[in-house]
Amino acid sequence: MGANSGRRGRPWNRLKAEVYARRSTCCRCRQAIDYTRPYRDPLTGKVDSLSKSVDHYPHPLETHPHLAEDPANLAAAHLGCNLSAGMKGATSTLGETTEEW
Ligand SMILES: [Zn+2]
Repeated sequence: MGANSGRRGRPWNRLKAEVYARRSTCCRCRQAIDYTRPYRDPLTGKVDSLSKSVDHYPHPLETHPHLAEDPANLAAAHLGCNLSAGMKGATSTLGETTEEW
């Protein structure tokens, strides 16, 4: 995966770190998130749906694009929960979770 959308150069990594630092439970299923879990399983290389991700919550990105980088509208969610929540339209939410673990 290379160039993903328009987030380059924006303080997205900082926003993510801020959201993760809250150590909150998943905004979708309310279960605890294991923040030490890698995005990809180091053995299989498969994306781990129980790993952390930043979700646009409570306002989805599709309807509130202006809140895309508003910390008040960002919450931690399991990757799988985030994905299934964003399934019906937006495919762009995941591109940013790629490289930096
Ligand atoms: Zn969850």
